[in-house]
Amino acid sequence: MPRSRSSSDRSRGSSDGQQTVVATNLVQNKKALVGLAQHLLTPASPSSRGYEYINGSNPGLNESSPLLQSPNGNGDDGEQGKLDPDEANPRTRAVVWGILTLVFVSGLVVMLCFEDTVAELFQPWLGILPRDPKAAALMILDRAPVIDGHIDLPYLTREYFANNVTAIDLESEMPGHVDIPRLREGKVGGFFWSVYVDCPNPNEAGPDFVNGTWRVRDTLEQIDVAKLLIEKYPDTFQLSLGAEDIKNAVSAGKIASLLGVEGGHQLGNSLAVLRQYHALGVRYVTLTHTCHNAFADSCGLLPGIKPLHHGLSPLGLTLIDEMNRLGVLVDLSHTSDSTAIQALKHSKAPVIWSHSSARAVHDVPRNVPDRVLRLIGKGNNKKDAVVMVNFAPFFVAEPGKATVEAVADHVEHIAKVAGKDHVGIGSDFDGIGETPDGLEDVSKYPALIAELYKRGWTKYELAGLTGANLLRVFEGAERVAKELKAAGTQPAFDIYSKRPDLPVREDDEL
Ligand SMILES: [Zn+2]
Repeated sequence: MPRSRSSSDRSRGSSDGQQTVVATNLVQNKKALVGLAQHLLTPASPSSRGYEYINGSNPGLNESSPLLQSPNGNGDDGEQGKLDPDEANPRTRAVVWGILTLVFVSGLVVMLCFEDTVAELFQPWLGILPRDPKAAALMILDRAPVIDGHIDLPYLTREYFANNVTAIDLESEMPGHVDIPRLREGKVGGFFWSVYVDCPNPNEAGPDFVNGTWRVRDTLEQIDVAKLLIEKYPDTFQLSLGAEDIKNAVSAGKIASLLGVEGGHQLGNSLAVLRQYHALGVRYVTLTHTCHNAFADSCGLLPGIKPLHHGLSPLGLTLIDEMNRLGVLVDLSHTSDSTAIQALKHSKAPVIWSHSSARAVHDVPRNVPDRVLRLIGKGNNKKDAVVMVNFAPFFVAEPGKATVEAVADHVEHIAKVAGKDHVGIGSDFDGIGETPDGLEDVSKYPALIAELYKRGWTKYELAGLTGANLLRVFEGAERVAKELKAAGTQPAFDIYSKRPDLPVREDDEL
């Protein structure tokens, strides 16, 4: 039908004419949408207004075209060809809103019909966690993997393989709780490799700890084992010497690998040994294991150990000063309550418990009492710290009652007393014979995260638990070390007072 048809023809209302109006209206609406899109996507200026596109620049349309007749369809007023932009706009808007409403309603229907599928599809993009705790835990751990404070893989290597690293295949199933497939399944982003050797028996070291033992040699052997295993699997492990290294390793999809010495008895009573351990990559020292040593008192394993120094010895105070200067974390697991309280007060840097749980939940000396937990935090008479919860059933619950839920109870108690920013994970895997139900090895961390998610922990709180709290504390200790060095703090050369081989000579003896 020719576009030059007169308005009087249209006013007859023939069916042919009505079809034309409908068809042309559809075309016009499409043009209007294009115009609206242009309007939204370009800066407002008269030339870019959608209605101007309709009025002026479509070659098939002019002011007398039926496409531009007034909304009431009455062409007898002779004005229908002169479309006023202000009249076209409401109509265009109505059409656009109609279409948008249709799209919205359709989307809503799809959402309601396929709720779960749609949710799964979009949740990762929106940062929303699924309702299923296991799925949520895996999603959280993908972004915030576990940095475990204490794993005894080097000690297992000593006990089972006589430290022969070539005899170990971490890519297949290992006898303990740790191997590469299970580390990956458990979403582990890093851990402290404990370079532990046991306490000498009291007769061996003597009452003043000055008899020679092989503990420094044995510790060097464990550092050797840890470093060789880390080197053996360069696609999996990355030796990490600081908080930044941990972040870089995790970003590269590697497992950040740190070294921790588990006991002052491994220092040979010497601050120089501490410095050399640091030079080899050690980043925490536990002040004691289950025995007292020249620096500090232990809590022992069972109740009733008699105090020796009543906390820290004078050399123990200097040890903490030196650790602060070097940036070696002060680890208070295994220490007596007096040692822990004095160390919290004395240390300039934040401290850690690399593998300890809550005494109020299960009353054993190795767990941290509330009166110590209350000293953790920010503010007066408090110190930043992270207590990394131990999974050893003996520390978790009465025999036969250690479960993932019971471990979660320890996490929640520490969080309740010290704050959620001060709790972490220090499983003690490969250092414990038994494990809790549901936390049998390093592949099971997601079960703990899922349990806490069920209890209402947010993704941010859980990311703190899995690693961010430890990172903050580590960064704090690094900052203190930097400040002390910048202030010109010198290395300490205090000699253990009971040591007979390094007497200070008097002038007349020279
Ligand atoms: Zn331990």
